[in-house]
Amino acid sequence: MNLKAKLLLFVVLLVANIGSESAIAAKSFPVGVHENTPQLTLNQHNDLLAIIDSHLPAWQADSDSAYFDILRYWNAPMQQGSIPHYFWWLVIALLLGFVSAVLFSLLMWRRIVEKNISLWQTQQNLNLILDSVDAHIFIKDMQQRYQYVNQNMCKFSGREQHEIIGQTDSFLYTEATCQKLRENDRRVLEEGERVVKEEINMLHGADSAQTFLTVKLPLRREDGTIYSLCGISTNMTDYLEIQKQLRRLALYDGLTGLANRYSLLEHLKKQLIDSRDARQDGALLIVDLDAFKTLNDTLGHRVGDLLLKSVAERLQAYASEQNLVARLGADEFALVRHIPTSSRAEVIATAQWFADRLLEDFVLPFTLDRMQYIASVTIGIALFSDAEGEAKQLLQKAEIALYRAKASGRNSVCFFDPLMQQQIQRRSQLERWLREAIIQEQLELYVQPQVSSDQQYVGMEALLRWNHPEEGFIAPADFIPIAEASGLIYPLGDWVLRKACQILAEWAVTPGMEKLRLSVNISTRQFRHQRFVEYIDSCIEEFAVDPDYLELEVTESLLIEDIELVIERMNALRKRGLRFSLDDFGTGYASLSYLKLLPFNKLKIDQSFVQDVLTNMNDEAIVSTIITLGQSLDLVVVAEGVETIEQAMLLERYGCHVYQGYYFGKPAPVVEWQQRISGS
Ligand code: C2E
Ligand code: MG
Ligand code: MG
Repeated sequence: MNLKAKLLLFVVLLVANIGSESAIAAKSFPVGVHENTPQLTLNQHNDLLAIIDSHLPAWQADSDSAYFDILRYWNAPMQQGSIPHYFWWLVIALLLGFVSAVLFSLLMWRRIVEKNISLWQTQQNLNLILDSVDAHIFIKDMQQRYQYVNQNMCKFSGREQHEIIGQTDSFLYTEATCQKLRENDRRVLEEGERVVKEEINMLHGADSAQTFLTVKLPLRREDGTIYSLCGISTNMTDYLEIQKQLRRLALYDGLTGLANRYSLLEHLKKQLIDSRDARQDGALLIVDLDAFKTLNDTLGHRVGDLLLKSVAERLQAYASEQNLVARLGADEFALVRHIPTSSRAEVIATAQWFADRLLEDFVLPFTLDRMQYIASVTIGIALFSDAEGEAKQLLQKAEIALYRAKASGRNSVCFFDPLMQQQIQRRSQLERWLREAIIQEQLELYVQPQVSSDQQYVGMEALLRWNHPEEGFIAPADFIPIAEASGLIYPLGDWVLRKACQILAEWAVTPGMEKLRLSVNISTRQFRHQRFVEYIDSCIEEFAVDPDYLELEVTESLLIEDIELVIERMNALRKRGLRFSLDDFGTGYASLSYLKLLPFNKLKIDQSFVQDVLTNMNDEAIVSTIITLGQSLDLVVVAEGVETIEQAMLLERYGCHVYQGYYFGKPAPVVEWQQRISGS
């Protein structure tokens, strides 16, 4: 008996056992079962199953047995009334399908929302970018009507986006502009070209046109057909204006509008080639305004500028294609004059004639702020043929000529002279060498004694000596002016002062030398240096020198300018104990009234008067006057350049008691004089 049948029987018997009277139960055990079958109680199932098992083969052999009745009874309703399984599976599948469809739609919906948001953001970003680009961006359809314009373009045209869209260029621009724009658009839309063009666009009612650099390109469908054009126009107006200004600044002088130095050189380069090819010549004239600095200082820069502009206008009358007028610097102008001949004499004559005309031109006064001002000029001229084809050389030579013209006085003209150039070259060579000499310590201090009329050494003057390795001794008269002009006098002067203090320190402990004063020559430029006093202090301190023994020799040139500073500085140094001597007296232009104000101790009569004092009555008179002046100012008077006893005697007669000169001793190295005086 299978498990199912057993179970059924078991259930039936169980039901009967618990007392339920059913027809089924009665019917189930028709054959002896009722009688034989013990009453079932709970926990007697196993017994019951054993009984069922024992009857089972018989029931199974009989199709009408209770076994089959039960089976039929329990199986039939189930088979007829139940819903097929596949139905439920179908329902479940449908439900699952439905849920998935809903979930999918929700997902899709979410994606679409996200896409829309991101699309909107992209659109916003794109608009932001397109509106922030410093250019006009637009799209036009095949009929050249605007489909899109960015805010920049709206701002430029003063129209709203919705006003422009759908319109053609004629809505914004003048007809002349539209014609050019249409042609460019046509090339893009019809010929599919990418057009890059400078467009000069004039809006309706605008004062001026604006220049754009425009790039226009066709927009194509997938199949390659063009459906619109996209344009990007950058406004170049300001940029071009700046470019123009920069060019002007690079080539022209800001104040006068004349060509500047750069333009002049460019012009000269071309002219030099052209004139050489044509076997002709020309001249470069540098015109320098006399006393411009004085005008500037007295009437102010505004009036100075007015004069420069007026001069420029006057010179401009000489300008032509070949004849350029330029401004080189503050008060320097240049004129290029083409001269169609190669004969040097003729070229010089023409240039001279031209320069004379210029000078004459300046006789007429200039009106500056309702004030009449007569200017004069000095002119330096160099010929093209002097320049060996080099524009810079030509300019340099004209400058040299100007330098010479200035030296010979105002309102003069000078041509370039090769000798002058040699001198200038020599100067720059000396300057170079001097620079090295200071570093390499090629310089030495000599000393020359100052002797009193009772044959006592009262002091020594320190004099620089430069022994150049190739040239030998180079005189101070040659290199001191170069040092002064180049500024090398600062390191040089510092070196001398330090050395002088070192010598004084040595003398302080050398018998016979300890009472000697040492005079040091000080250049005007050096004296005016703001750290001059400080430097002297440092030297004195370094060598522990008694400042009483240090004497500074200055010349009258120091007293010409800024006298207050000079007085203050001299007094400061006097307070420290230093002494002052006025060198080369009589050669400068010092005002005698200043002499009273300044704390000088000594007056040195310039050697040029002493030299001829015996033979020249004028010099004798000057010498005697200087001595009297010195005495009246309570100054020690020293005569320089005393070469003979006769000179010394004459000077003595006039009241000069201290002498310096070859007669008493030549400048020599310190050790030499030390040996002579102290014997050490
Ligand atoms: P200075 O200060 O008037 O110096 C006197 C010049 O006369 C010296 O020329 C000296 O050698 C020269 N001398 C002296 N006795 C006689 C004489 O009996 N006959 C002639 N014919 N000449 C005599 P030196 O040494 O050539 O110096 C020339 C000038 O160079 C000096 O004139 C001075 O102005 C300047 N100098 C020299 N050394 C220095 C220096 O260290 N610094 C500065 N700033 N200038 C200096
Ligand atoms: Mg001197
Ligand atoms: Mg002197």
